[in-house]
Amino acid sequence: MPLRLILIGPPGVGKGTQAALIEQRTGAKPLSSGVIFRAEIDAETDLGQLAKRYIDHGELVPNGVTIQMMLKRIRSQEVRSHGFVLDGFPRTVRQAEALTEELENIQVTIDAVVSLEVPEDVIVDRLSGRMGCTKCGEIYHSTNKPPKREGICDKCNSPLFVREDDKPDTVRERLRVFRDNTKPVIDYYETLGRLRHIDADRPADQVYQDIVDGLV
Ligand code: AMP
Repeated sequence: MPLRLILIGPPGVGKGTQAALIEQRTGAKPLSSGVIFRAEIDAETDLGQLAKRYIDHGELVPNGVTIQMMLKRIRSQEVRSHGFVLDGFPRTVRQAEALTEELENIQVTIDAVVSLEVPEDVIVDRLSGRMGCTKCGEIYHSTNKPPKREGICDKCNSPLFVREDDKPDTVRERLRVFRDNTKPVIDYYETLGRLRHIDADRPADQVYQDIVDGLV
């Protein structure tokens, strides 16, 4: 059975790292709204240009376009046959309600909704120093997980980049947006009785084991 998961958590909690591990080990496709928006920005599409205005300030892209973009991918045949890991979506209760409705329509059930949790000071620490590979998406950190050669990906030798929105002021704004908009999403799934709370301030492998416990 394809695995279908939702990962929820503040920026820097390790959603992207976990989504990549889950794909490697189960084949479920990561669907990361942030990654998709950044690809649209790089391709200079209309959606990318619109999204950039919000992303650069750490604000949320409007619900309408975000919901459309994500539901289209969830409906795709590849995602339906391999399963998916939602990373960064839903981030508002409006998005969560739209997702619930869509999943009911296409008769797909979610195996688990996972809330990844770490203290806020750990997050600020993790985000300052974070770097990603421009090609394969592998994530590094200047002190916790430095690449072997500075600025170069260990896996595919492509250059690494630092995200614009990982600057301290924007990070603070993203954390505020998380508290105001995304914490209610956690309550939404808690009420539905679908939530796993996971301490994400531990090595990635242990976090992974807890996420998939009883599912794979
Ligand atoms: P992320 O890579 O998940 O940290 O997302 C980077 C940025 O993309 C966020 O700070 C938002 O500006 C935007 N974004 C990502 N996912 C969503 C979403 N579900 N709803 C609205 N904006 C989003």
